[in-house]
Amino acid sequence: ITPTTPAIEVEHLTVSYGAVPALLDVSFTIPQGQLVGIIGPNGSGKSTLVKAILGFLRPDIGNVRIFGIPAERTRRLVAYVPQRGSIDWDFPVTVEEVAMMGRYGNIPWWQWGASKQDREIVEEALSIVRMSDFRKRQIGELSGGQQQRVFMARALAQGARVVLLDEPFAGVDAATERAILNVLESAKQSGRTLVVVHHDLATAAEFFDSLILLKQRLFAFGTPAQVLLPELLSEVYDGH
Ligand code: ADP
Ligand code: MG
Repeated sequence: ITPTTPAIEVEHLTVSYGAVPALLDVSFTIPQGQLVGIIGPNGSGKSTLVKAILGFLRPDIGNVRIFGIPAERTRRLVAYVPQRGSIDWDFPVTVEEVAMMGRYGNIPWWQWGASKQDREIVEEALSIVRMSDFRKRQIGELSGGQQQRVFMARALAQGARVVLLDEPFAGVDAATERAILNVLESAKQSGRTLVVVHHDLATAAEFFDSLILLKQRLFAFGTPAQVLLPELLSEVYDGH
């Protein structure tokens, strides 16, 4: 991987759940070190795009490459911060254990093998997202926003070069929004590529280097100034 290798390449991606494609012929390339927003109305395929980039969904057509490598073979390089409330924690697991999964994967015996260095990495990641005080708490007892910060810590502990976040700002107060932005900015400063599903058009221009405007198809991809055009937005958001 050289600095000019694209972080994410999406080519002619078509993904269907049933008869109607959720994504149709979507193509774009994201360079390393960018903070990218995915915008579009409800049901426009934003979460589907994130899952396809992660290799969780098999496309009907097209492909995804991370640093030039097929997505299904780059698991450790890529981390996911799911949409809040999307996971039912029906088994007991602590904040610290979830963050430790970034080091050991999703294996129940992780704790027997955790080295001092792994513990330090996890402790630092929890401190960056300001969840150190919660390390022994059950994650299922925390708020959605706190759970997302734990997933962010897991992503940092994993050393992921690409982090995909699904609506991390939805329903958070201004102080939490600031805190999440700071974490994203510092991850970007360390060379990571961040792709964030975002709901709020009003803040899209100030948060992101570039934007993906989606409604089944890719309507626009570029700087906020190139994408946030009134005519384009009304075409996508007001429907036709
Ligand atoms: P967004 O995140 O932009 O709101 P999604 O990617 O969740 O959109 O959904 C895109 C489309 O795919 C919607 O029409 C949605 O109903 C459909 N869809 C999403 N997930 C599933 C699923 N698991 N099974 C069937 N249809 C789905
Ligand atoms: Mg969604």
